[in-house]
Amino acid sequence: MFRKNKDKSLKIKIISRIIILLVVLFVIIDIIFALSFRQESISEAKIRSKTIAKVVRDGLTSLMVMGVIKDRKIFIQRLKKASKQVDIQNISIIRGNPVNKQFGPGFKSEEPVTNDERYVLSSGKKLEKLDETFNTVRYRVIIPYKATDTGVVNCLLCHKVKSGTVLGAISLTMNLTSVREAAFRTIIQTSIIFLAFLIILVLVFFKFLSPYISLFQKIESGLENLKEGDMDGALIDEKGLPDDEAGKVAKTLNETSKSLKEILLDIESKVSTLIGYTVVKTDNYLKDTIKIINELVRIYNFKRVIEKDRTKKDIMRRIESIIRDYMCFDNYAIYEVGDNNKMSILTVGSKINLGKDDMWCNRSSIEDADSCRAKRTGGDVDSINFPCICPNFKFNIPEEDESGTSKTCNEKYNYYCIPIYIGGKVGMVLQLIFDNDVADFVHWMIPYIKGYLTEASPVIESRKLMELLKEQSIVDQLTGLYNRRYLDESSENIVAGIKRRGTNLGILMLDVDHFKEVNDKYGHDNGDVVLRNVSKQIRKSIRSSDIAVRFGGEEFLALLIDIKEGEGVAVAEKIRKAVESSPLEIPGGVVLKKTISVGVCEFPADSNKFWQAVKYSDVALYEAKENGRNKVVRFTKDMWKEEEY
Ligand code: GH3
Ligand code: MG
Ligand code: MG
Repeated sequence: MFRKNKDKSLKIKIISRIIILLVVLFVIIDIIFALSFRQESISEAKIRSKTIAKVVRDGLTSLMVMGVIKDRKIFIQRLKKASKQVDIQNISIIRGNPVNKQFGPGFKSEEPVTNDERYVLSSGKKLEKLDETFNTVRYRVIIPYKATDTGVVNCLLCHKVKSGTVLGAISLTMNLTSVREAAFRTIIQTSIIFLAFLIILVLVFFKFLSPYISLFQKIESGLENLKEGDMDGALIDEKGLPDDEAGKVAKTLNETSKSLKEILLDIESKVSTLIGYTVVKTDNYLKDTIKIINELVRIYNFKRVIEKDRTKKDIMRRIESIIRDYMCFDNYAIYEVGDNNKMSILTVGSKINLGKDDMWCNRSSIEDADSCRAKRTGGDVDSINFPCICPNFKFNIPEEDESGTSKTCNEKYNYYCIPIYIGGKVGMVLQLIFDNDVADFVHWMIPYIKGYLTEASPVIESRKLMELLKEQSIVDQLTGLYNRRYLDESSENIVAGIKRRGTNLGILMLDVDHFKEVNDKYGHDNGDVVLRNVSKQIRKSIRSSDIAVRFGGEEFLALLIDIKEGEGVAVAEKIRKAVESSPLEIPGGVVLKKTISVGVCEFPADSNKFWQAVKYSDVALYEAKENGRNKVVRFTKDMWKEEEY
């Protein structure tokens, strides 16, 4: 429709310009024609008047020579009559004063009547005037007759005057109206011819030029669409295209549009495959391609940044920042699936008070990772498309109304949970919580978020592996406690912290009593069971911030961070009792009751050198063994006799 209107307006524009041009041309031609016609008729009138003046002069001279000048009236009457037939309106002969003086006054009709006539007689100059009114055109001319002695007849023979004296004049008035009418007729005739020419021109234009104009218009709008990236809109209907250069141009444009579209679609699909999602498509292939390339750049930059992150936590923080700061989610959570199939919360964002758990889900989904639907199914969990799909969402539990029927789910808190695959398994879950109002926006954002998660997943996996390797190198595999290597690496930091805070460090050296017997009587495997149990009792009896180390064989070291002075013995006693009261039943129905001895030393009270304090705790342990085992002994100065340790 739009194109048709444009088509029409262009045609009208072209044709109106041609018409204006031709009309102007025609008017100019007509003006030139009219002016030259006027010029022509005036000069023709001049020649005629000159000829008549000559004829009259010669006629009068003849009459004079023949001596019948007094009968000149007949000549003049005849002359007037004849003149009428050649459009001479008036003709009169005027006698000059020198003639009147010599020959006496002439006829009344020979006297000058107008000032112009008097002027010509006195000045001897020819005078001509063109009177143009709406109805008539008249050419008036007054030609003086001057005495001459050089012509065929010597005037001075009869006239007693000087050569050049004005003897008389002839006054002529010619009617040129008919000449003007003829010019008008000619102009009207040419106008009719011109109009006919114009009509033919318009017809020719519509017949031959019209298809080219509309094709040009189509090419123009096609190119506009092409510029905008709308390759489909750029296509020109090939039906009825002229089979010439113009048609070829249109076909080439179509081929260009098609191949450009194919190239852009190819780029779009390859980049989509690369980044794992596609952008919302429009008719504008160019803009879509730019959008997807921008996505690729964005994702690539994100990947470059996270590859430089050292820990899994740093990467998580970056994802959190994208979710919270870039995508503006206030409510969200990221969970990690542990090896024990428990979920741990890595981060939680919330604008409301989530209660003491500070969780968007029920506790059960933390205790058992399979309670989390996203983890269990490995697919997205979307409460907008499937309301109440996850029973473990805290704010989604159907409530009972007065009639006892269950209400619909809470629409205020919708959720969308995305499983994040790490090493082929669901290793993490991203949970987004949002209002109904922004549900469409969230759905629109999901592919973008997944793009980030897909890129982050292998990096998280590698960081996880690195962390595992690191952990393995500092953790004792049998008991899960830290090993000696960890103690060597971190003792400096622990001591620095204690010194900075000005607190105390409790050092407990623990050793299983008569452990060798277990190995000897019940074998190494049962010995290992005892070691694991002792480790468990130590861990249970100390704070999570305290550090338990398998010091060697069946010896353990517990570092009690920031204890009150003298408190170490109480903790040691607590462990001792815990071990004593945890008998172990081993295969064969045997119940093993093991005890431990503990040496206690406090840093910096007993020694301000860490390794010396460790040694002192060992010394105290020796004392405990010596004094009957299953005992806690606090180091005292008298136990160390040597100067140096
Ligand atoms: P005491 O009451 O004096 O401490 O006597 P004990 O038998 O516990 O002490 P001793 O140092 O004589 O024996 C320690 C034994 O612990 C020797 C070693 O075979 C055993 N042992 C060391 N590491 C392990 C281990 O990882 N597993 C098992 N099953 N036994 C271990
Ligand atoms: Mg020992
Ligand atoms: Mg022992």
